[in-house]
Amino acid sequence: MYVDTFSLDVSTRAPTGQTNAYLVSGEPVVGDTDAGPRSDDTDHEPPSDDADAESGTAERADTDPETETLLIDPAARSETLDTVVHEKGLDHVAVTHTHPDHVDAVAHYATTTDATVWARRWRTDRFREATGVDPDRTFLDGDAVGPARVSDTPGHAPDHVAFETARGVVCGDLAVATGSVAVAAPEGDVRAYLASLRRLLARDPPRLYPGHGPVIDDPRGTCERLLAHRRDRERAVREAVAGGARDLESVVDDAYETDVSGVRDLARATVVAHLEKLAAEGHLRWDPTTERVSPVT
Ligand SMILES: [Zn+2]
Repeated sequence: MYVDTFSLDVSTRAPTGQTNAYLVSGEPVVGDTDAGPRSDDTDHEPPSDDADAESGTAERADTDPETETLLIDPAARSETLDTVVHEKGLDHVAVTHTHPDHVDAVAHYATTTDATVWARRWRTDRFREATGVDPDRTFLDGDAVGPARVSDTPGHAPDHVAFETARGVVCGDLAVATGSVAVAAPEGDVRAYLASLRRLLARDPPRLYPGHGPVIDDPRGTCERLLAHRRDRERAVREAVAGGARDLESVVDDAYETDVSGVRDLARATVVAHLEKLAAEGHLRWDPTTERVSPVT
């Protein structure tokens, strides 16, 4: 089992400016699979031996999903990815979620290969809208997609899933090696996100393959750090309200110690997601229409 990383240039707010696509397969694709994300401008050895690629396709014969290839999050095309897909063939295409910085080349690889295109069941409209592609098949939590198994991990996005493999979990925007991922209104759901992180933690995978940034070799430490980060943010929001903040802008001002002027829209959306959680849990009142917040008396 191999998980190969293709770092693709995309328009994303992630600091790297890149999204990682992953090719999960039963055999190595390009060089050392443990090297972490690579840019396409680095020297890749092209996948060798076309005869093998041919017979590999024949051998797959739908009998052993371990030997099938699954492309996850083709956020863009790249020469390397095109070459590898051309040489190896592609059995399955899927995405961790349908945000625009994860889906742009789904249509390309769907139409230029025989791959089965998968989407989360009940989320096919959203998938079609984001990718322009009608999925061939749908999956639910626990289903096998070629060599990987689907795990529902909503929170960052409502349709977010992770793909479990023998080598680790392709976790999309559930986790990142440094910093944090956005869990922001209207898409983000903090309660779901925390549950997904705990679920991932309980699985205790050997490594995580995130949507952005390097491979995570310490999944446990990373999940715990991200959980702590959410707890800290929640505490800051609660303290802001306890301290007298009564509207969204004041809560944002009080809840962030750093200057958020460059990313204020994201800070606002993050605070709203936390206010929604706290209101759902009965800790405060939040009116999304007036953007007023008040303590529970
Ligand atoms: Zn996303």
